[in-house]
Amino acid sequence: MQPAGVIVVGGGQGGFQVAASLRDEGYQGPVTVIGDEPCLPYQRPPLSKGFLTGKAQLAEIQLRPAQFYSDQRIDIMHDRVESIARSANRVRLASGRALAYEHLVLATGARPRMPSVPGAHVAGILPVRTVVDAQTLLPQLKQAKRLAVVGAGFIGLEVAVAAIEIGLEVEVLEYADRVLKRAVSAEAADYLARAEMQAGVRFRFNTAASGFVERDGRVAGVQTTVGETIAADLVVVGIGVQPNAELAQAADLAVHDGVMVNAYLSTSDPHISAIGDCARFPATYSKTPVRLESVQNAVDQARCVAARIAGRAEAYAKVPWFWSDQGANRLQIAGVAEAGDLAVVRGDVAAGKFSVFRFRDQRLTAVESINSAADHMASRKLLACAARISPEQAADTRIKLGALTIPC
Ligand SMILES: Cc1cc2nc3c(=O)[nH]c(=O)nc-3n(C[C@H](O)[C@H](O)[C@H](O)COP(=O)(O)OP(=O)(O)OC[C@H]3O[C@@H](n4cnc5c(N)ncnc54)[C@H](O)[C@@H]3O)c2cc1C
Repeated sequence: MQPAGVIVVGGGQGGFQVAASLRDEGYQGPVTVIGDEPCLPYQRPPLSKGFLTGKAQLAEIQLRPAQFYSDQRIDIMHDRVESIARSANRVRLASGRALAYEHLVLATGARPRMPSVPGAHVAGILPVRTVVDAQTLLPQLKQAKRLAVVGAGFIGLEVAVAAIEIGLEVEVLEYADRVLKRAVSAEAADYLARAEMQAGVRFRFNTAASGFVERDGRVAGVQTTVGETIAADLVVVGIGVQPNAELAQAADLAVHDGVMVNAYLSTSDPHISAIGDCARFPATYSKTPVRLESVQNAVDQARCVAARIAGRAEAYAKVPWFWSDQGANRLQIAGVAEAGDLAVVRGDVAAGKFSVFRFRDQRLTAVESINSAADHMASRKLLACAARISPEQAADTRIKLGALTIPC
């Protein structure tokens, strides 16, 4: 009888990578990826960037062509996993089928949060998470004149600058007092906000959406918490995501804003792992378990789980990194900072080429590099080997960052 093999729930970045890495690791059993989107696994980052300006098409953002999956004996099923019967090691699908697994990997990602205010369900108020979302948004962007973006996080800022590029008027509402408040230092955030303003984006800070105005069945404006109405014939919402953890919760696995996993990315059931946007894991750089939303995290966690299934178990210990392209500016972040961490600038802010080094208790926690790829690569090494670097050394561009990693 054929072994039950590995079932991966979710055909996104992490789900694809588990399957591909299992084959790279020499795993010979059946590998099935069950994803509820109608297409082959693809990259999400272009959806808020080049896909909107016409620089990237669907075929180009697919992670691999169909042939790859047949060559690698990876079965891709377009279906939805409805429940997990842990006692029988089986999953039940929306189509009614039941499949047995030897190991189950939850790579279910996250879904956008939408504002729960009056009018939020009117046509023309859209999230950007999936290719279907982006395909829905694209023709509306071409027809619209005034876009309102709710939320000045990475996706909101990327969409804003893409919309300016294709000729829309753009206004961004943000409930905090600046952009990217949760994610980066004021130094890096202010630079990016200034660049967006120079491109033509208008910002309203300390302002949230309190409702949406409807005209002829479509959005016509955003009402704000400061009592104004902003005219808009299209609204993009970028106010964060919530992990798709209901499947795990219903199967009695521990869930706290994400599926809880140990250092090996295993849930409390040794036959079930969780990775990527949906997983919350212990990390040396944080007192409490973390959940990260990035391509690097999904890919590296997928590789870690595939290696364990193939017999090479290792605790997950990668330095997190992330990037965001906002028009001509590329932000790259290595590590994870907290709000109160010291910020030290290295490089030339006026020239748009600098990094912000973050420190807590004299230790480097993260580096935010703007248009400075070399700093970013060196910072990943510094963080990986927990190199000793002082704030003074970080600020001094005469000191080569690479030299500080030599003892590692
Ligand atoms: C617009 C956008 C831009 C981004 N830009 C960047 C960037 O510039 N840099 C960066 O590092 N990261 C970026 N990210 C984040 C990055 O894409 C995600 O962190 C990454 O895709 C997470 O991978 P994942 O496999 O955990 O989840 P996902 O890629 O979201 O995949 C999860 C999949 O599981 C499916 N699924 C869920 N439940 C079930 C079920 N029960 N049955 C079957 N299928 C199910 C979902 O539909 C989805 O297809 C961006 C994300 C978005 C949305």
